[in-house]
Amino acid sequence: MANHRRIFILVCITIVCLFIAINSLTIKQNVSTKPQKSSFQLQKFFGGTNQEVSVYFISGEEKGPTLLIIAGIHGDESGGYLTAERYADIKVKKGTLIVVPRLNLPAIVKGKRQGLDGDMNRLFHLPEDTHSTPDTKVVNLAKSLIKRADYVLNLHQGEGFYSPKWISHKRNPSRWGQCNVIDAPIFDLPNGDKLELASFAKKIASSSNSKIKDKKYHFQVNNTNTASNKSIHKEQRRSLTYYALYQQHKTSLALESTKNCTVPQAVGFLTIAINSVIDAVGIQAENLPSADPVTIKKEFSDKKTQNVIFFRPSLPSPRRIIKTM
Ligand SMILES: [Zn+2]
Repeated sequence: MANHRRIFILVCITIVCLFIAINSLTIKQNVSTKPQKSSFQLQKFFGGTNQEVSVYFISGEEKGPTLLIIAGIHGDESGGYLTAERYADIKVKKGTLIVVPRLNLPAIVKGKRQGLDGDMNRLFHLPEDTHSTPDTKVVNLAKSLIKRADYVLNLHQGEGFYSPKWISHKRNPSRWGQCNVIDAPIFDLPNGDKLELASFAKKIASSSNSKIKDKKYHFQVNNTNTASNKSIHKEQRRSLTYYALYQQHKTSLALESTKNCTVPQAVGFLTIAINSVIDAVGIQAENLPSADPVTIKKEFSDKKTQNVIFFRPSLPSPRRIIKTM
């Protein structure tokens, strides 16, 4: 009798175990066949220091290209970092956005081009184990993010207006405002493929310009031909976009708005350009920021939004940020 009882208990335990095993397998299968969920992650680097960098990783349910948007490498170009901030919490459906609104916090706090030690956009040629400047660790962080991207944008605001021909003191080849900067028109990849930067930059400019009524603010393509001995911008060999193209083989553009307009206008121009890039590379996102300067101005004066845009921890007081506009 006792044996029968033992056998009965053993059979029961086996049945329960089998039931649990089959059930857990089904659960595992269900998980693996489920579509990939969209994800949002905010990662803070060098937290608690004056060089804190917030990086937003936003992925859609559908796989697609990765676009890296970096701003705030120069602290006196608030149009750039205020624009990037508007992409920090959009909803991506396809592809991935990596957004770094304020790369060079010490420069932004000062409201100056340079932060702790010189121009951060002239340090990308340095080897990663260099410790000659306190900015190296932030530059290395930017390099590591560039490696993860397919497309790289560096947002800036320049004086005057770029023009391939000399038109005036304000509008000529050495000015930077309202242009998409590329380091080379075509880049030959080691596998024989080519990165067609000029045609990409032209496409972005033409798509952007169709949305800008005043032709005075139309974007031009500025090919700095950086590697050429004839280049008038050899200093760009030390820049972020040059590193992204020549060392990491990424399609990289510097998007420059002019400083000769209001901040909401500059944010509007850069928003138009970024939205054009997002569309051109095949990233799909909901609620892309509006490019209308009136809406942007209202957004900036809205206290609730000010909390999002201006009152980040370890940022300067909003009065200071507004002053640097
Ligand atoms: Zn700049």
